[in-house]
Order: sequence, then structure tokens, then C-alpha cells
Amino acid sequence: MNGAAFFLVVNFAVAMSFSAVFLVVARRSQSPAAARWLGAGYSVASLSAICELLVAYAGPAHIWALGAFATVLCGMVMLTVGIGEMYRRRVDARIIALFVSASLFLAYVIYDLPRSTLLQALLYQAPFALVLLAGALIVFLARDRTIIDRFLSILLLTSGLQFFAKAGLAVLFGAGTTAKDYVHTNYALISQSLSAVLMVAIGLTLLAKLVLEIMAAQRMESEIDILSGLLNRRGFDRRVEGLFAVSRDGQHAIILCDLDHFKQINDTHGHHAGDAVIEAFGARVRLCVPDGAFAGRLGGEEFALFLPRTSVDVAVQIAQRLRLETMSLRDLPPSIAVTASFGVASVSSEAGLAEAYRQADQALYRAKNSGRNRVMIAASGYGT
Ligand code: GH3
Ligand code: MG
Ligand code: MG
Repeated sequence: MNGAAFFLVVNFAVAMSFSAVFLVVARRSQSPAAARWLGAGYSVASLSAICELLVAYAGPAHIWALGAFATVLCGMVMLTVGIGEMYRRRVDARIIALFVSASLFLAYVIYDLPRSTLLQALLYQAPFALVLLAGALIVFLARDRTIIDRFLSILLLTSGLQFFAKAGLAVLFGAGTTAKDYVHTNYALISQSLSAVLMVAIGLTLLAKLVLEIMAAQRMESEIDILSGLLNRRGFDRRVEGLFAVSRDGQHAIILCDLDHFKQINDTHGHHAGDAVIEAFGARVRLCVPDGAFAGRLGGEEFALFLPRTSVDVAVQIAQRLRLETMSLRDLPPSIAVTASFGVASVSSEAGLAEAYRQADQALYRAKNSGRNRVMIAASGYGT
């Protein structure tokens, strides 16, 4: 077996391995359809290696050569559809069908053209280049691109352009006088090794993207409190500390909140009724949280809101609104009366976050001691 044939076998094995991994990842992925398309794309493209070997070592060359072209093209199209799914950009099936049919027709027509001429090589490579450039465009147009997205778009762009370079290399080194000769040429060796490198690079980047999405979703899940639907203490702390670290000099506010006589609700109506109150209160808090602010359930029936770049006065208005709305929570039996007490404090860079928590907690304590169902401010100490 010569070098290029060896590469064909290696490429087949590598593409099939990627396909299997994509299909496994699809079961856990946030974009299962994308992962399945990518897996299918690698599977179909891997068949081209078999077709190329059949061209060289079995007949009829014409059929297998077209098969090699078709499998690479369809594999790449599936890959691009998968990338479209990943970045929420559906590719129109009619355009795909038209493009694939036109490309196959083109490959059929140019089969008898003299090989290794620039025209023949360019016409042969152009469809592959266009598919990958379309993939690069999809990633390039995506919003909120991270480093991995940028890397993927550059990789797809390079891979797309590389097909034009391949046309030049085919002319330079010669792709064989007939399709049967291809596998014995130096060009085949260069072409197949280039394919191997790019296939692995694109496959690894796409896999990394899918795995990072899974990790981000799991982290998100681990930071949400199931009952209230708000952040749990870990999620709340992480977000507040993150925001506090980047905008220390801003004027922020914090609201601590505790449901009143909650133990009594549990004792009178049962634990499940208490859970329903937490659920209903969480839903109401989510409605009251302004854009950019965070709300969390710190534990039991204690909640907190962090309001970035917000004055204490505005924070008090938000707490008051929440206090009034707590008295009319939806989806609870009318016999359950719920109220809550609030402590509001400003968060300054000098005093720090821990001090703000301490002050808000003291204000909340005063709200409880002076009759509950009220809002107290830390600094000035007056209640409403
Ligand atoms: P106060 O007005 O002083 O805050 O009184 P309280 O009864 O609300 O406060 P206390 O701390 O005495 O009781 C809180 C209760 O909340 C005790 C605990 O059993 C209950 N609790 C904590 N977590 C949950 C929960 O997830 N579900 C339910 N149903 N109850 C919970
Ligand atoms: Mg309480
Ligand atoms: Mg409490």
C-alpha cells in the first residue's frame, strides 16, 4: 500500500471515530440535532476514502470517482447544516438540494476534461470550498462570539480557501492522467494529509464547542434553586462577586428578604403549602427583578436581590413593590396569608460586600422586630 492509500485508510478511521464521538455527545448536548448532523457528516465523508481506494484498485473508476466526490461534498454539507443548527441558523433545504445536484452535475461533466488543468481542478474543488466558506460565514455572523467561535470561523475559512490552493497544487504536482492514477501521485499524498489535519482540527474544535456548551449548562443548573427558580446561594454569590469585581466604583444596592412567620405556614397548612409559597414568591421576585439585577434564594425562606448601579431609594421602591405583591401571591389557597420583611443597604467599594450584607441583615432584623411586613434601610434606619 502506498503513502496516499495509507492516508486514505487513516482518514477513514479518524472520520469514523469523530462520527462516533459526535453521536455519543449528541445524547447529552444542548444542541443534539447539531451533534447528530456533525456525526452523520463525518460518517458520510469517511466513505470517500473507500471510494478513492475502489477507484484505484477496482472498477469502474468513473462511478467510484463520482462517489468519492459526492460523499465528501454531502459530508461537508451535513457538517455545515450541523454548524447552522449549532448557531441557530437554519440552512434552506431547497438551496442545499439545488447546490448538491448542480455540483454533482458539474463533477460528472468535468470528469472527462484533462486532469490537472487549472480549470478542471478549480471546478472540482470549488463546491467543497463554497460549503466550508458558508460554514465560516454562519459562525462569523453569530452573535456574542467567544474565542472558540472565532477560532472555528478562522479554521473554516482557512479550510475553505485551502481547496483553491489544492487546485493550484493539483496543477503543480499533477493529479494523475486518469482518476485511477490519483492515489499514486504526490498530489494525493499532500491532499490527503492536508485533509487529515483540517478534519482533525475542525472536528476537535466542534467537539470542544459542544462540550463547553454542556459544561456551561450544567454549571447553570448547579446554580439554580429548583423550588423558587431563582439563583441558589452559590449562583448568587458567584454572580454578585463577579459583578462587584469589575465595577467596584459603582453605586449598588442589596435587598435581603425573609418571609414572615413561615414556620407557622408550614405548621398550619403543611410543608407542601410552604413549598408552594416559596415557589409563588420566587415567581413574583423574577417578575420584579430589573434587567441586570440578580435574585437568589440564600436558604430556607430567605432571599436576596443585588441591584447594580442602583441607589438605595430605588432599591426601597423595588422592595416596597415586592412587599405589596407578596400579599397577593397567585396559585395559593386564600387561607394562606403571606407577608415578607426587607432590609436594604447600599454597597460601596470602601465598606465592601460583606459589610453591605451585614448592614442589610441588621435592617431586616429591625424590620422583623418592629412588626414585620415592612422595608427597613440600613444607613438611615427609618422604616416604611
Ligand atoms: P420570622 O417571621 O421571624 O422569619 O419567622 P419564621 O417562622 O419565618 O422563621 P423561622 O426561621 O423560625 O422558620 C423558618 C422555617 O422555614 C423553618 C423551616 O422548617 C422552614 N423551611 C426552610 N426551608 C424550607 C423549605 O424548603 N420548604 C418549606 N416548606 N419550609 C422550609
Ligand atoms: Mg422567616
Ligand atoms: Mg428565616
